[in-house]
Amino acid sequence: MLSHGKRLRGLDMDKPTPNFVDYETACTEFTWDRARQELSGMAGGRMNIAHEALDRHIDTPTAERTAIRFLPRDSEQVVDISYRELYERAGRFANVLAGLGVGRGERVYALAHRTPDLYAAALGTLRHGCVFTPLFSAFGPEPIRSRIEIGEPSVLVTTERLYRRKVADWIANTPSVRHVLLIGEVDEAPAGTADAGALMDQAEAEYATQAMDPEEPALLHFTSGTTGRPKGALHVHEAVVAHHITGKYALDLHPGDIYWCTADPGWVTGTSYGIIAPLTNGVTLIVDEEEFDAERWYRILQEQAVTVWYTAPTAIRMLMKYGPELARQHDLSALRFLASVGEPLNPEAVHWGREVIGLPFHDNWWQTETGGIMIANYPSMPIRPGSMGRPVPGIEAAVARDTPGGIELIEAPDETGELVLKKGWPSMFRGYLHEEARYRKCFAGDWYRTGDLARRDADGYFWFIGRADDVIKSSGHLIGPFEVESVLMEHPAVAEAGVIGVPDEVAGETVLAFVALRPGDEESETLRKEIMALARKRLGAAVAPRRVEFRSDLPRTRSGKIMRRLLRARELGLPEGDLSTLEGGTQ
Ligand code: AMP
Repeated sequence: MLSHGKRLRGLDMDKPTPNFVDYETACTEFTWDRARQELSGMAGGRMNIAHEALDRHIDTPTAERTAIRFLPRDSEQVVDISYRELYERAGRFANVLAGLGVGRGERVYALAHRTPDLYAAALGTLRHGCVFTPLFSAFGPEPIRSRIEIGEPSVLVTTERLYRRKVADWIANTPSVRHVLLIGEVDEAPAGTADAGALMDQAEAEYATQAMDPEEPALLHFTSGTTGRPKGALHVHEAVVAHHITGKYALDLHPGDIYWCTADPGWVTGTSYGIIAPLTNGVTLIVDEEEFDAERWYRILQEQAVTVWYTAPTAIRMLMKYGPELARQHDLSALRFLASVGEPLNPEAVHWGREVIGLPFHDNWWQTETGGIMIANYPSMPIRPGSMGRPVPGIEAAVARDTPGGIELIEAPDETGELVLKKGWPSMFRGYLHEEARYRKCFAGDWYRTGDLARRDADGYFWFIGRADDVIKSSGHLIGPFEVESVLMEHPAVAEAGVIGVPDEVAGETVLAFVALRPGDEESETLRKEIMALARKRLGAAVAPRRVEFRSDLPRTRSGKIMRRLLRARELGLPEGDLSTLEGGTQ
């Protein structure tokens, strides 16, 4: 089993002071210009996220610091990669792209699990001025294909195994993809693919990072709405200003920290806080190839002397299920700051952290569109368990209600409304790819509408109430019901499908599907299993319904939309309320 011998050398100072000690002062003194000055920028007001993450460290002692400590799945041999090495690997990858004739602004997708090659590819893509898009490697072929169709990447970076299992069958029908580059071990590159490692070995390490306009696109992250296809949220190079400062303020990153973000790099958290913010802040990143395993996780915290740990409520609840004993068998004393994101963090989890680990979890809130943390609990501010905290300095958040002409801010405390954010922070998305109208609908005047319901208490702490729309959060992954319904409808026996989230003790929510069969098809256990198997095969286990129920028909609005909220209300025994409001949100 894993025993990663040599401990990394963490911070020189024992417990550094938090990056700000007084919230009110930090808010008063903050300007985005000042935040920008913490980074180096490039000549002529140009920027590049990778320049801030890597290049600017190269002439400093940080260059020799470990940027990534990689813990392979089935070996005890850790792999340490310094900032300089990562910079050079990213340079080689950028040269590979250049050599293939991939130009600035073209999109490069990555579908891969956590290995150092993925990080080099992401950073190399940015250095070359291409737009990087991560895809969750646990997705089935369908979500991968639809995201490729929408974003039309020129390059797909993946592994041989994932390519053969999930991509090979249909990639010929997506002509935008000119190159498939295989990272990791390649036994035999299938026709139409190339071994990225071999190309990188032949490429120069030297590469002049492209100087980008701060408003040029850098990242494209897919997210889900209630209706329609997945949405591609575009972020620009200037976003790095927010990544950096929120890493510093909300995660309290200090240079030299040993930092572990457990989010998968296939999602936005794994990019903003799993790659960019830690590197701009000069920390050592723990990258574990393995999936969740309670014992392994505690061992990593102990052996790697992790100082800052950013994880998610589902993972915390899974650890809680193993009981306090397992935690107490480990020396977790190197930890200084624990943070959580992605789903509501129940107060019990905050208390559990305090009792069992000796530190509370600090909840924070953000979403794909915001690009970075917007609301957080900070080390220097008392936690109110169950609250997401207060807005990051530089962020104006409010609660609003709908009016016929738009929205109206609710000034009184403790009233529930939609969480809205004042436009203009650097990591705010700049559009949904090819969907200008959908993007515009997210704004009311100067305010971005998050689609979340929240309340603010009299002291300015925000409390999450729920989603205003029907998207599902399961194990921290956002799932669009429409995407699941579309696949269920592919089964010849299914006439219609309605998909909802139902509460789950560990995963937060799980996916429940209701299907109505075509006339002539009979309900049976065999058919149910067949439908579930189809969903799992096409969508992947992380997205497929956990349960499928038969219904003779599904409730619809007059305009023909399935009333998911009514399905949900009935399933959970909730009051059915005013049916006219049951159609779902706007996003
Ligand atoms: P995603 O865009 O996939 O990152 O999902 C964003 C959504 O996750 C938000 O709009 C919220 O609904 C939910 N979320 C994120 N962080 C929190 C949190 N700290 N508490 C409650 N919900 C959260």
